[in-house]
Amino acid sequence: MNFLDFIGEGQTLLLILILLYLSECLIWVKRESVAFVSASGRRWRLAVPPSWMGNANGGILFLNPLPPAGRVFLSHLSPVSISPSGICAFNIQTLSSEARSPYQSGEFLPFSKIKGSGADGAYLVLNNEKFTKCATSKQAHALAKLIGAMAKASTSKREGMARTWVVKQFAVDDARALLKESESLIKPIQQMGVVLFLFLFVFIPSLAFVFGLSSLSIPVAAVMVALAVEIAIMFYRAHKKLYPAESSERLESVVKMILCPPVSMRAADILTRNLLAQYSPIVLASVLPGSGEQQFVRSVILDLKHPLKHEVSEEAAQQTISWTVNEQLNVCLDQVKKGRYLKPEELLAPTQREENSISYCPRCRCQFVVSEVECPDCPGVALVDF
Ligand SMILES: [Zn+2]
Repeated sequence: MNFLDFIGEGQTLLLILILLYLSECLIWVKRESVAFVSASGRRWRLAVPPSWMGNANGGILFLNPLPPAGRVFLSHLSPVSISPSGICAFNIQTLSSEARSPYQSGEFLPFSKIKGSGADGAYLVLNNEKFTKCATSKQAHALAKLIGAMAKASTSKREGMARTWVVKQFAVDDARALLKESESLIKPIQQMGVVLFLFLFVFIPSLAFVFGLSSLSIPVAAVMVALAVEIAIMFYRAHKKLYPAESSERLESVVKMILCPPVSMRAADILTRNLLAQYSPIVLASVLPGSGEQQFVRSVILDLKHPLKHEVSEEAAQQTISWTVNEQLNVCLDQVKKGRYLKPEELLAPTQREENSISYCPRCRCQFVVSEVECPDCPGVALVDF
Protein backbone atom coordinates (compact mmCIF):
# COMPACT_ATOMS: atom_id res chain seq x y z
CA MET A 1 0.00 0.00 0.00
CA ASN A 2 1.44 3.37 -0.88
CA PHE A 3 1.43 6.39 1.38
CA LEU A 4 -1.59 8.09 -0.21
CA ASP A 5 -3.74 4.96 0.12
CA PHE A 6 -2.86 4.73 3.77
CA ILE A 7 -3.77 8.36 4.40
CA GLY A 8 -7.12 7.87 2.65
CA GLU A 9 -8.10 4.65 4.41
CA GLY A 10 -6.84 5.66 7.82
CA GLN A 11 -8.49 9.05 7.65
CA THR A 12 -11.84 7.59 6.64
CA LEU A 13 -11.76 5.15 9.53
CA LEU A 14 -10.76 7.83 11.97
CA LEU A 15 -13.45 10.14 10.64
CA ILE A 16 -16.12 7.45 11.13
CA LEU A 17 -14.95 6.86 14.69
CA ILE A 18 -14.95 10.60 15.41
CA LEU A 19 -18.46 11.04 14.00
CA LEU A 20 -19.77 8.09 16.02
CA TYR A 21 -18.18 9.57 19.10
CA LEU A 22 -19.56 13.07 18.48
CA SER A 23 -23.07 11.71 17.96
CA GLU A 24 -22.86 10.38 21.53
CA CYS A 25 -22.17 13.92 22.76
CA LEU A 26 -25.64 15.04 21.69
CA ILE A 27 -28.49 14.82 24.17
CA TRP A 28 -32.15 15.75 23.90
CA VAL A 29 -33.30 18.25 26.53
CA LYS A 30 -37.04 18.80 26.88
CA ARG A 31 -38.46 22.25 27.43
CA GLU A 32 -39.58 21.17 30.92
CA SER A 33 -36.07 20.03 31.79
CA VAL A 34 -32.86 21.83 32.60
CA ALA A 35 -29.31 20.68 32.03
CA PHE A 36 -26.32 21.53 34.18
CA VAL A 37 -22.94 21.01 32.55
CA SER A 38 -19.35 21.60 33.49
CA ALA A 39 -16.09 21.68 31.56
CA SER A 40 -13.76 21.16 34.51
CA GLY A 41 -16.08 19.44 37.01
CA ARG A 42 -15.49 22.31 39.42
CA ARG A 43 -17.79 25.02 38.05
CA TRP A 44 -21.26 24.07 36.85
CA ARG A 45 -23.58 26.16 34.74
CA LEU A 46 -27.01 25.92 33.15
CA ALA A 47 -26.96 24.88 29.52
CA VAL A 48 -29.89 25.66 27.25
CA PRO A 49 -30.10 24.03 23.80
CA PRO A 50 -29.87 26.60 20.98
CA SER A 51 -33.33 27.42 19.66
CA TRP A 52 -32.46 26.37 16.08
CA MET A 53 -31.54 22.85 17.28
CA GLY A 54 -34.96 21.63 18.26
CA ASN A 55 -38.71 21.99 18.15
CA ALA A 56 -41.52 23.06 20.48
CA ASN A 57 -40.93 20.08 22.78
CA GLY A 58 -37.20 20.31 23.27
CA GLY A 59 -33.79 20.80 21.77
CA ILE A 60 -30.47 19.10 21.16
CA LEU A 61 -27.64 20.01 23.49
CA PHE A 62 -24.07 19.40 22.36
CA LEU A 63 -21.98 18.30 25.32
CA ASN A 64 -18.31 19.13 25.63
CA PRO A 65 -16.70 16.38 23.52
CA LEU A 66 -13.45 16.46 25.48
CA PRO A 67 -13.22 13.71 28.07
CA PRO A 68 -14.05 12.83 30.77
CA ALA A 69 -17.74 12.24 30.13
CA GLY A 70 -20.29 12.39 32.93
CA ARG A 71 -20.37 16.15 33.28
CA VAL A 72 -24.10 16.56 32.70
CA PHE A 73 -27.04 16.46 35.09
CA LEU A 74 -30.67 16.98 34.14
CA SER A 75 -33.67 17.93 36.23
CA HIS A 76 -37.18 17.27 34.94
CA LEU A 77 -40.21 19.14 36.22
CA SER A 78 -43.06 16.86 37.23
CA PRO A 79 -45.65 16.44 34.46
CA VAL A 80 -48.43 16.20 37.04
CA SER A 81 -49.76 17.94 40.13
CA ILE A 82 -50.73 15.72 43.04
CA SER A 83 -52.91 16.78 45.97
CA PRO A 84 -54.58 14.73 48.72
CA SER A 85 -57.71 14.60 46.55
CA GLY A 86 -56.33 13.50 43.20
CA ILE A 87 -53.94 13.88 40.32
CA CYS A 88 -53.98 16.41 37.50
CA ALA A 89 -52.01 16.17 34.24
CA PHE A 90 -50.71 19.69 34.62
CA ASN A 91 -47.84 21.43 36.38
CA ILE A 92 -48.20 25.17 36.68
CA GLN A 93 -44.46 25.62 37.13
CA THR A 94 -42.57 26.65 34.00
CA LEU A 95 -38.93 27.16 33.22
CA SER A 96 -37.51 30.10 31.31
CA SER A 97 -38.83 28.70 28.01
CA GLU A 98 -42.37 28.92 29.48
CA ALA A 99 -43.28 25.94 27.31
CA ARG A 100 -45.57 23.09 28.29
CA SER A 101 -45.70 19.75 26.59
CA PRO A 102 -48.94 18.87 24.77
CA TYR A 103 -49.34 16.02 27.28
CA GLN A 104 -50.14 18.58 30.00
CA SER A 105 -53.84 18.21 29.24
CA GLY A 106 -55.17 19.36 32.62
CA GLU A 107 -57.15 16.12 32.98
CA PHE A 108 -58.06 15.37 36.59
CA LEU A 109 -58.63 12.03 38.31
CA PRO A 110 -59.70 11.77 41.96
CA PHE A 111 -58.00 8.97 43.91
CA SER A 112 -61.38 7.29 44.43
CA LYS A 113 -61.57 6.64 40.68
CA ILE A 114 -58.03 5.28 40.28
CA LYS A 115 -58.18 1.48 40.08
CA GLY A 116 -54.73 0.82 38.71
CA SER A 117 -51.53 2.66 37.88
CA GLY A 118 -48.49 1.71 35.87
CA ALA A 119 -45.96 2.90 33.34
CA ASP A 120 -45.58 2.14 29.65
CA GLY A 121 -42.17 3.49 28.70
CA ALA A 122 -42.31 7.18 29.58
CA TYR A 123 -46.12 7.16 29.73
CA LEU A 124 -47.94 7.22 33.03
CA VAL A 125 -50.85 4.78 32.72
CA LEU A 126 -53.89 5.13 34.98
CA ASN A 127 -56.88 2.77 34.74
CA ASN A 128 -55.26 1.18 31.66
CA GLU A 129 -55.18 4.48 29.77
CA LYS A 130 -52.25 6.73 29.00
CA PHE A 131 -52.70 9.65 31.37
CA THR A 132 -49.66 11.77 30.46
CA LYS A 133 -46.11 11.48 29.20
CA CYS A 134 -43.19 11.86 31.58
CA ALA A 135 -39.65 12.95 30.82
CA THR A 136 -38.21 9.48 31.40
CA SER A 137 -39.46 5.99 32.14
CA LYS A 138 -37.85 6.35 35.56
CA GLN A 139 -40.09 9.33 36.30
CA ALA A 140 -43.14 7.45 34.98
CA HIS A 141 -42.38 4.43 37.19
CA ALA A 142 -41.86 6.56 40.29
CA LEU A 143 -45.14 8.44 39.76
CA ALA A 144 -47.07 5.23 39.01
CA LYS A 145 -45.80 3.70 42.24
CA LEU A 146 -46.69 6.76 44.32
CA ILE A 147 -50.15 7.14 42.78
CA GLY A 148 -50.87 3.42 43.23
CA ALA A 149 -49.93 3.65 46.90
CA MET A 150 -51.95 6.84 47.41
CA ALA A 151 -55.04 5.37 45.74
CA LYS A 152 -54.92 2.42 48.15
CA ALA A 153 -54.21 4.54 51.25
CA SER A 154 -56.88 6.00 53.49
CA THR A 155 -57.94 9.62 52.93
CA SER A 156 -56.25 10.73 56.13
CA LYS A 157 -52.90 9.33 55.03
CA ARG A 158 -52.95 10.87 51.54
CA GLU A 159 -52.11 14.37 52.69
CA GLY A 160 -48.91 13.20 54.36
CA MET A 161 -47.95 11.20 51.26
CA ALA A 162 -48.51 14.11 48.90
CA ARG A 163 -46.52 16.37 51.21
CA THR A 164 -43.64 13.89 51.36
CA TRP A 165 -43.62 13.77 47.55
CA VAL A 166 -43.08 17.56 47.44
CA VAL A 167 -40.55 17.63 50.28
CA LYS A 168 -38.48 14.93 48.55
CA GLN A 169 -38.09 17.13 45.46
CA PHE A 170 -36.29 19.67 47.63
CA ALA A 171 -34.21 17.25 49.74
CA VAL A 172 -30.87 18.97 49.22
CA ASP A 173 -29.03 16.74 51.71
CA ASP A 174 -30.31 13.54 50.05
CA ALA A 175 -29.23 14.83 46.64
CA ARG A 176 -25.79 15.71 47.97
CA ALA A 177 -25.42 12.28 49.59
CA LEU A 178 -26.45 10.52 46.37
CA LEU A 179 -23.96 12.58 44.39
CA LYS A 180 -21.16 11.67 46.77
CA GLU A 181 -22.12 8.00 46.90
CA SER A 182 -22.22 7.72 43.11
CA GLU A 183 -18.75 9.21 42.72
CA SER A 184 -16.91 6.00 43.56
CA LEU A 185 -18.99 4.13 40.96
CA ILE A 186 -18.73 6.71 38.18
CA LYS A 187 -15.14 7.90 38.52
CA PRO A 188 -13.44 4.66 37.36
CA ILE A 189 -15.76 4.61 34.31
CA GLN A 190 -14.83 8.21 33.50
CA GLN A 191 -11.14 7.30 33.75
CA MET A 192 -11.51 4.27 31.50
CA GLY A 193 -13.32 6.51 29.02
CA VAL A 194 -10.32 8.84 28.98
CA VAL A 195 -7.98 5.88 28.39
CA LEU A 196 -10.03 4.69 25.43
CA PHE A 197 -10.28 8.25 24.09
CA LEU A 198 -6.49 8.70 24.16
CA PHE A 199 -5.97 5.26 22.66
CA LEU A 200 -8.37 5.82 19.76
CA PHE A 201 -7.75 9.45 18.93
CA VAL A 202 -4.12 9.99 19.94
CA PHE A 203 -2.24 6.70 20.22
CA ILE A 204 -3.61 4.89 17.14
CA PRO A 205 -3.24 7.82 14.70
CA SER A 206 0.36 8.44 15.79
CA LEU A 207 1.22 4.75 15.65
CA ALA A 208 -0.41 4.41 12.23
CA PHE A 209 1.52 7.39 10.99
CA VAL A 210 4.84 5.73 11.89
CA PHE A 211 4.18 2.06 11.09
CA GLY A 212 1.27 2.15 8.65
CA LEU A 213 -2.21 0.94 9.39
CA SER A 214 -2.44 -2.48 7.77
CA SER A 215 0.06 -4.20 10.07
CA LEU A 216 -1.70 -2.82 13.13
CA SER A 217 -5.36 -3.21 12.38
CA ILE A 218 -5.98 -6.54 14.14
CA PRO A 219 -4.17 -5.88 17.45
CA VAL A 220 -5.56 -2.34 17.52
CA ALA A 221 -9.13 -3.52 17.02
CA ALA A 222 -8.66 -6.20 19.67
CA VAL A 223 -7.46 -3.68 22.27
CA MET A 224 -10.26 -1.28 21.37
CA VAL A 225 -12.95 -3.94 21.79
CA ALA A 226 -11.35 -5.21 25.01
CA LEU A 227 -11.41 -1.72 26.52
CA ALA A 228 -15.03 -1.19 25.41
CA VAL A 229 -16.10 -4.52 26.94
CA GLU A 230 -14.35 -3.60 30.19
CA ILE A 231 -16.18 -0.25 30.28
CA ALA A 232 -19.48 -1.96 29.44
CA ILE A 233 -19.07 -4.38 32.37
CA MET A 234 -18.22 -1.54 34.79
CA PHE A 235 -21.15 0.45 33.42
CA TYR A 236 -23.53 -2.48 33.87
CA ARG A 237 -22.61 -2.83 37.57
CA ALA A 238 -22.82 0.90 38.31
CA HIS A 239 -26.08 1.32 36.42
CA LYS A 240 -27.64 -1.59 38.29
CA LYS A 241 -26.80 0.07 41.61
CA LEU A 242 -27.89 3.59 40.62
CA TYR A 243 -30.91 2.69 38.45
CA PRO A 244 -32.09 -0.75 39.64
CA ALA A 245 -35.41 -0.55 37.77
CA GLU A 246 -34.04 0.64 34.41
CA SER A 247 -33.08 -2.75 33.01
CA SER A 248 -33.94 -2.00 29.39
CA GLU A 249 -31.79 1.17 29.27
CA ARG A 250 -28.99 -0.84 30.87
CA LEU A 251 -29.10 -3.67 28.37
CA GLU A 252 -29.52 -1.40 25.37
CA SER A 253 -26.51 0.72 26.39
CA VAL A 254 -24.28 -2.29 27.04
CA VAL A 255 -25.06 -3.79 23.63
CA LYS A 256 -24.35 -0.45 21.93
CA MET A 257 -21.04 -0.08 23.77
CA ILE A 258 -19.77 -3.50 22.79
CA LEU A 259 -20.90 -3.27 19.15
CA CYS A 260 -19.67 0.30 18.77
CA PRO A 261 -16.67 1.02 21.05
CA PRO A 262 -16.70 4.86 20.68
CA VAL A 263 -20.09 4.83 22.45
CA SER A 264 -18.48 3.41 25.59
CA MET A 265 -16.30 6.51 26.00
CA ARG A 266 -19.46 8.44 26.94
CA ALA A 267 -20.80 5.76 29.32
CA ALA A 268 -20.52 8.12 32.31
CA ASP A 269 -23.00 10.52 30.67
CA ILE A 270 -25.74 7.89 30.88
CA LEU A 271 -24.97 7.41 34.57
CA THR A 272 -24.96 11.09 35.60
CA ARG A 273 -27.67 12.41 33.22
CA ASN A 274 -30.71 11.34 35.25
CA LEU A 275 -29.03 10.71 38.59
CA LEU A 276 -30.49 13.84 40.22
CA ALA A 277 -33.42 14.22 37.82
CA GLN A 278 -36.07 13.75 40.51
CA TYR A 279 -34.90 16.83 42.39
CA SER A 280 -36.00 20.40 41.75
CA PRO A 281 -33.68 22.36 39.43
CA ILE A 282 -32.77 24.64 42.34
CA VAL A 283 -31.52 21.65 44.32
CA LEU A 284 -29.13 20.86 41.47
CA ALA A 285 -27.98 24.47 41.41
CA SER A 286 -27.34 24.12 45.12
CA VAL A 287 -25.44 20.81 45.23
CA LEU A 288 -23.34 21.13 42.07
CA PRO A 289 -20.25 23.05 43.15
CA GLY A 290 -19.50 26.50 41.83
CA SER A 291 -22.81 26.95 40.05
CA GLY A 292 -23.41 30.68 40.27
CA GLU A 293 -26.96 30.42 38.99
CA GLN A 294 -28.48 32.83 41.53
CA GLN A 295 -30.71 34.46 38.94
CA PHE A 296 -32.02 31.11 37.80
CA VAL A 297 -32.77 30.03 41.37
CA ARG A 298 -34.60 33.27 41.97
CA SER A 299 -36.66 32.93 38.80
CA VAL A 300 -37.70 29.38 39.75
CA ILE A 301 -38.90 30.48 43.20
CA LEU A 302 -40.62 33.60 41.85
CA ASP A 303 -42.37 31.45 39.25
CA LEU A 304 -43.79 29.28 42.03
CA LYS A 305 -44.87 32.42 43.89
CA HIS A 306 -46.39 34.19 40.86
CA PRO A 307 -47.34 31.46 38.40
CA LEU A 308 -48.50 32.20 34.87
CA LYS A 309 -52.16 32.08 33.98
CA HIS A 310 -53.43 28.75 32.64
CA GLU A 311 -56.39 27.35 30.76
CA VAL A 312 -57.43 24.56 33.12
CA SER A 313 -60.96 25.41 34.26
CA GLU A 314 -62.29 22.36 36.13
CA GLU A 315 -62.45 23.27 39.81
CA ALA A 316 -61.05 20.05 41.28
CA ALA A 317 -58.16 20.22 38.81
CA GLN A 318 -57.44 23.83 39.71
CA GLN A 319 -57.42 22.99 43.40
CA THR A 320 -54.92 20.20 42.88
CA ILE A 321 -52.69 22.44 40.77
CA SER A 322 -52.69 25.17 43.43
CA TRP A 323 -52.20 22.70 46.26
CA THR A 324 -49.01 21.37 44.64
CA VAL A 325 -47.57 24.77 43.77
CA ASN A 326 -48.32 26.16 47.24
CA GLU A 327 -46.67 23.17 48.91
CA GLN A 328 -43.61 23.60 46.71
CA LEU A 329 -43.43 27.30 47.48
CA ASN A 330 -43.77 26.70 51.22
CA VAL A 331 -40.95 24.15 51.25
CA CYS A 332 -38.80 26.52 49.17
CA LEU A 333 -39.42 29.59 51.32
CA ASP A 334 -38.82 27.55 54.43
CA GLN A 335 -35.42 26.55 53.09
CA VAL A 336 -34.67 30.15 52.04
CA LYS A 337 -35.45 31.24 55.60
CA LYS A 338 -32.89 28.73 56.82
CA GLY A 339 -30.27 30.34 54.59
CA ARG A 340 -30.43 28.02 51.57
CA TYR A 341 -30.37 28.99 47.86
CA LEU A 342 -30.37 32.80 48.27
CA LYS A 343 -30.94 35.68 50.67
CA PRO A 344 -34.66 36.28 51.43
CA GLU A 345 -34.40 39.95 50.34
CA GLU A 346 -33.41 38.83 46.84
CA LEU A 347 -37.02 37.74 46.34
CA LEU A 348 -38.38 41.22 47.07
CA ALA A 349 -38.66 44.29 44.84
CA PRO A 350 -35.65 45.18 42.68
CA THR A 351 -33.32 47.44 44.69
CA GLN A 352 -32.07 49.37 41.68
CA ARG A 353 -34.98 51.44 40.51
CA GLU A 354 -34.73 52.51 36.88
CA GLU A 355 -35.43 56.10 35.86
CA ASN A 356 -39.17 56.94 35.63
CA SER A 357 -40.28 53.43 36.54
CA ILE A 358 -43.19 53.27 38.94
CA SER A 359 -43.96 49.55 38.96
CA TYR A 360 -42.31 46.17 38.52
CA CYS A 361 -43.31 42.63 37.69
CA PRO A 362 -42.94 40.40 40.78
CA ARG A 363 -42.23 37.39 38.56
CA CYS A 364 -39.63 38.55 36.03
CA ARG A 365 -38.69 41.76 37.91
CA CYS A 366 -38.86 43.95 34.81
CA GLN A 367 -39.64 47.60 35.59
CA PHE A 368 -42.38 49.68 33.97
CA VAL A 369 -43.53 53.27 33.70
CA VAL A 370 -47.18 52.21 33.91
CA SER A 371 -49.09 50.47 36.69
CA GLU A 372 -52.33 48.56 37.17
CA VAL A 373 -51.73 46.28 34.18
CA GLU A 374 -50.37 42.80 33.59
CA CYS A 375 -46.75 42.20 32.77
CA PRO A 376 -46.52 41.78 28.98
CA ASP A 377 -44.04 38.90 29.41
CA CYS A 378 -45.87 37.08 32.20
CA PRO A 379 -49.56 36.52 31.34
CA GLY A 380 -51.73 36.71 34.44
CA VAL A 381 -49.15 38.41 36.66
CA ALA A 382 -50.15 41.93 37.75
CA LEU A 383 -47.53 44.66 38.12
CA VAL A 384 -46.75 45.93 41.61
CA ASP A 385 -46.15 49.58 42.43
CA PHE A 386 -42.85 50.53 44.02
ZN1 LIG B 1 -43.05 39.68 34.10
